[in-house]
Amino acid sequence: MPTILEPGEIEAAASSPPFLYLPPHNLFTLRALRLERLAEGHPLADYLRLVAGLCYVQQQLMDDPPVATLPDPERIKVCQEHGLPPLAADSLVREGHWLPYLDTLLQRYRPAPQLAVEQALATLRNTDSGQRKAWAVALVSGQFTLLPAALVPFLGAALQAAWSHWLLSTPDLALKPGDSLSQCPACGSPAMAGVIRNRGKHNGLRYLVCSLCACEWHVVRVKCVYCEQSKGLEYVSLDDDRHAANQAPLRAETCPGCRSYLKLLYLENDAEAEALSADLASLMLDMRLEQEGYLRPAPNLLLAPGSD
Ligand code: FE
Ligand code: FE
Repeated sequence: MPTILEPGEIEAAASSPPFLYLPPHNLFTLRALRLERLAEGHPLADYLRLVAGLCYVQQQLMDDPPVATLPDPERIKVCQEHGLPPLAADSLVREGHWLPYLDTLLQRYRPAPQLAVEQALATLRNTDSGQRKAWAVALVSGQFTLLPAALVPFLGAALQAAWSHWLLSTPDLALKPGDSLSQCPACGSPAMAGVIRNRGKHNGLRYLVCSLCACEWHVVRVKCVYCEQSKGLEYVSLDDDRHAANQAPLRAETCPGCRSYLKLLYLENDAEAEALSADLASLMLDMRLEQEGYLRPAPNLLLAPGSD
């Protein structure tokens, strides 16, 4: 007897979901605009506006990058021959190609006068490249306690700009799934958050957003990205008068098995939402989940966990 496929099944059989979703070239402008919007009436308004200012400088680094800073194509080839992602962060961060992005950021960034920010920028300016690299190694490996918390947003911003620029300007990057679901196929860094997309061929699919290079990769929904279990997952959101709980644009997928969580952004409930800004504007949710004993493996490179 012939098998008759329903219309939906035919489509599913004919096309597997696109594996990658590359960020747009104006990624950092979008983040800045969104942060400025979220800052209105927000308890962390000053901090969100500070990060917005940094995002504008990140965009400048993409649009007008420091000269001669693309990683050596041979280096990318060697990474891939060793089974590493082509822009492997833990390896490339030890070389100096990203340092001109930090120098240029320190030249171009003109924040509103604020003592703590000026001190952090002065510390970075007066630090040699050996120490800068050591801090950057700590940051991309998630060891936030090994560098001063006040330096994290500025160092993180320079690293993000370098890796996003490389991701979007290196031709023919062959990307394949990482060793774990939460690992970026382009640079090997952990995901910052997930986005459930709402348009075109990506409609209804979950993509994880890289904390470093902003590459997005497809991971099936309703599965813990850390222990790969689907049992007992719950979706937790902050109370918000504007949205019912099952329509909240931002929800944390919590796993009872490994006690971890990952924030997810549902674009169908807020088409303008963007992962990095949504993450920073919802730190109340992190505080609540931490109190409930959940771990957050997902880094945000513009904020040291637990810092003011
Ligand atoms: Fe990445
Ligand atoms: Fe889990």
